[in-house]
Amino acid sequence: MNSTMILMGIFLGLLTQAYALPVKNSTGLFEGKVRLKRKYSDEMLDRDEMNVMDQILEVNRRLRAPRGLTFREGDIATSFVRSAITCPDNACLWPKSVDGFVYVPYILSPLYDDMDRITIETGMQDISSGTCVKFIPRTHEGSFLDIQPRYGCWSFLGQTGGSQTLSLQTPGCMWSGVAAHEFMHALGFVHEQSRSDRDHYVTIVWKNIMAEHIHNFRKQATNNLNSPYDYSSVMHYGRYAFSEDGGPTIIPKPDPYIPIGQRDGPSALDLHKINVLYNCGANE
Ligand SMILES: [Zn+2]
Repeated sequence: MNSTMILMGIFLGLLTQAYALPVKNSTGLFEGKVRLKRKYSDEMLDRDEMNVMDQILEVNRRLRAPRGLTFREGDIATSFVRSAITCPDNACLWPKSVDGFVYVPYILSPLYDDMDRITIETGMQDISSGTCVKFIPRTHEGSFLDIQPRYGCWSFLGQTGGSQTLSLQTPGCMWSGVAAHEFMHALGFVHEQSRSDRDHYVTIVWKNIMAEHIHNFRKQATNNLNSPYDYSSVMHYGRYAFSEDGGPTIIPKPDPYIPIGQRDGPSALDLHKINVLYNCGANE
């Protein structure tokens, strides 16, 4: 009986070893590839490893701004016609209704199929289930989101007034987390690493950033809503965003190994920030 157990032990040991080896090898290969490739998105072998912002930048890689628009930080649209939207005095917030909810009317392009609609609506629900923001199909409202499968995943910042396009390309942007990310832009949020206080929490590795994308790492004069910096925000760039040669462009501090970003949807702190910005829970 003892010899059977020993044999089983050896067999299991071999199995474990056989299992471990290819994993180690493939990691080595992956790292080699990272260094060789210039565009960071090429090295993302497995989409499951990508966070929401990586996914967005991958889709938007060849994005050319439609006439009259420009993009900053990779996916925030700005119109030349309207003055640069900086949302002074929260002028770009969606209005709060007397019942305490903030209704964001939307129309969905008929080009989306059922699965697309479910994905987009899941992104809405992930926000509305934890906040006082409710996305409602537009009936007569003058200001609303016009959600279309244009090229790329992008949104304007805050409410611009009137019809405002929010692009969720299909299939590239068809993740509920990506949809929620763009909805948070439409609610008035910039990227987490653009916060005015970000230098306390991350190091921007300027030498690793593609020269033409340096501007995407500018800090913004943000209202940080007395909430802590959130590495797991759905609004955070990935570690390799706009990398020139595969090296990291954002390193958390003091612990460089803290995971950044995520792909599921808004974090608890993201929802908290929406609740603070829109004064949820306090009927006016
Ligand atoms: Zn964004």
